Amino acid sequence: ASMREERIEKTKTVCTYCGVGCTFDVWTKDRKILKVEPQQESPANGISTCIKGKFGWDYVNSDERLTKPLIRDGESFVEVEWDEALDYVVKRFSEIKKGNGADALGFISSSKATNEESYVMQKLARQVIGTNNIDNCSRYCQAPATKGLFRTVGHGGDSGSIDDIGEAEMVITIGSNTTESHPVLGSRIKRSQKLFGQKLYVFDLRKHEMGQRADRFFQPKSGTDLVWLSAVTKYIIDQGLENRTFIDKWVNGFEEYKESLQKFTLEYAEQLTGISKKELIEIAEQIVSVDKLAICWAMGVTQHQLGSDTSTAISNLLLITGNYMRNGTGAYPLRGHNNVQGCSDFGSMPNFFPGYEQVADNDVRGRYEDAWGTEIPSEPGKDNHEMIKAIHEGSLNALYVLGEDTGIVDANINYVTAAFEKLDFFVIQDLFLTKTAEYADVILPAVPSLEKEGTFTNTERRIQRLYKALDPVGDSRPDWQIIMDIANKFGYDWGYSNPSEIMDEAASLAPLFAGVSYDRLADYNSLQWPVNADGTDTPLLYTDGFPFDDHKARLYSLEYELKYDTNEKYDLHVNNGRVLEHFHEGNMTYKSIGITSKMPNAFIEVSPELAEERGIKEGAEVKLTSESGEATGIAHITDRVRGKELYLPLNDNGKLAVNYLTDNNVDKDTNTPSYKEIAVKMDVIKKK
Ligand code: SF4
Repeated sequence: ASMREERIEKTKTVCTYCGVGCTFDVWTKDRKILKVEPQQESPANGISTCIKGKFGWDYVNSDERLTKPLIRDGESFVEVEWDEALDYVVKRFSEIKKGNGADALGFISSSKATNEESYVMQKLARQVIGTNNIDNCSRYCQAPATKGLFRTVGHGGDSGSIDDIGEAEMVITIGSNTTESHPVLGSRIKRSQKLFGQKLYVFDLRKHEMGQRADRFFQPKSGTDLVWLSAVTKYIIDQGLENRTFIDKWVNGFEEYKESLQKFTLEYAEQLTGISKKELIEIAEQIVSVDKLAICWAMGVTQHQLGSDTSTAISNLLLITGNYMRNGTGAYPLRGHNNVQGCSDFGSMPNFFPGYEQVADNDVRGRYEDAWGTEIPSEPGKDNHEMIKAIHEGSLNALYVLGEDTGIVDANINYVTAAFEKLDFFVIQDLFLTKTAEYADVILPAVPSLEKEGTFTNTERRIQRLYKALDPVGDSRPDWQIIMDIANKFGYDWGYSNPSEIMDEAASLAPLFAGVSYDRLADYNSLQWPVNADGTDTPLLYTDGFPFDDHKARLYSLEYELKYDTNEKYDLHVNNGRVLEHFHEGNMTYKSIGITSKMPNAFIEVSPELAEERGIKEGAEVKLTSESGEATGIAHITDRVRGKELYLPLNDNGKLAVNYLTDNNVDKDTNTPSYKEIAVKMDVIKKK
């Protein structure tokens, strides 16, 4: 090889964007990122990637990276050395704990950070500070899906692998813009459709690409998925088409559940959802005609006031048709961030230790208290939503946010940033000076995935290793090191020299990860939890029943009432989600020149009928106003949306953030904001 080639390093890594968890070799030369090269053995993606995984790496070498710790000095920040910054953090945390108690502090972990970093963050909160006030961004997205699955089948994860979705005879997607939000998985479904005629039924408000490709596409009225799901389930039972053998052997509560469905007649469902009786019957008949059904869903289901119940309705339907416990079947909540699954798995939750063991369970808590030599409160802590509320009420005074632009991504920006202003002490750990960081007292510079070791867990519960390709920029440090430094300044002696030792500790304490080790995850090897002590893993989650005492799943009865609607003043509904090119608010993808030139700004999709009615031309500037605030942007007229539905991408580049419009309403079971339930009025500012 020539000298030039010799200097090129190839390092295995895991994509830092979505929950599909694509893996590839990244080619670097000095600090230059030359390209990514997926490998045949990449478990989730083979040789595929999408635009973000391929070209979304400019942020790593961005000039805007934070390279030194910063401390607030009046209206600006001054650079300081690590010792000064961390001593200050420890001093202020100690004072606030002493004055107001441990529960006056709150911690928010990042689904962009590694499993090991989630583990040490919750350990910092619980062992060092003594509070369970720890949460992560699954509160903004996937907590309702997890809840629906816990209630019915016992584990909060995908039932099988991406391969199982590929093998299903029929795939239903609900509230998922799969092509843009989970691109490689979307391609997998399209391939199965082509290869062997997999049936694809898509339910969404917006006719996105998956909707156009679907065998059947349905547009139920916003927030009514629970109704059509329950009506289809009822019809199947009424016709005696349920899977008797499966139910008798593996499912509890059939009679009571059947009783609870009385209300969900076809007439009722037609009236509420807008899907006709005839169509509902066709959907039911198609479902029972196949042997293997997989249902995928995302934020269009979860970010509603009935998000948990709707997720539960999906699982109920799968149970009565026997679509669990076999390859090609099951429930697939599609995880958004690269490590949103792992961040919850490894204990950054107010009610769970790592591996979803209850904080309130005395035996479990005792195990951690023994290991950590400390007392841990038995009461679950506050979730993100409750923490913001507690700041407003004055009972939470210090917040430590790791890798999350909370002030942009939490619902109701005006309310959340007003809370930040009431904090006595605010620590932000991030790569960039985000909008949220502007409210901080201390900003700690962290590193991106390419500059550290660790593991991420993708949507199919697959734990994968990332290796270090580059050295940290400036004085920035990996999150796990910063958190360890803080713990040690509090007088602890955490002695991790490598994240593998953090994983070893987690594996020794959490039965779900008993057999996980870095050796077993070397290179492109991966493990899908639960992982037994002997290292065998669980690609298909349910093989011998469900994780309840009697090994039987539970049908869960549901009610429905309309929780939200537009009204005379706010007469339009705003739906929102991702675009292919950008990731969420865009803090990372906007640093990529290529991506930004393809998709510079967010826009407001307006239906042709509404545009006609209001005299709005393509490119007009419009203002949206809700009860919470206002946002201004450019109208894009498209028949992807219909009637009085508007659509707003999440990426805003500082001008058009959807969360100026969202409010404080939440899913009743998980406190996940109902981001998809916004009523607005629209005014034209500048006609084109
Ligand atoms: Fe990354 Fe998701 Fe794209 Fe794969 S599909 S490259 S994980 S953003």
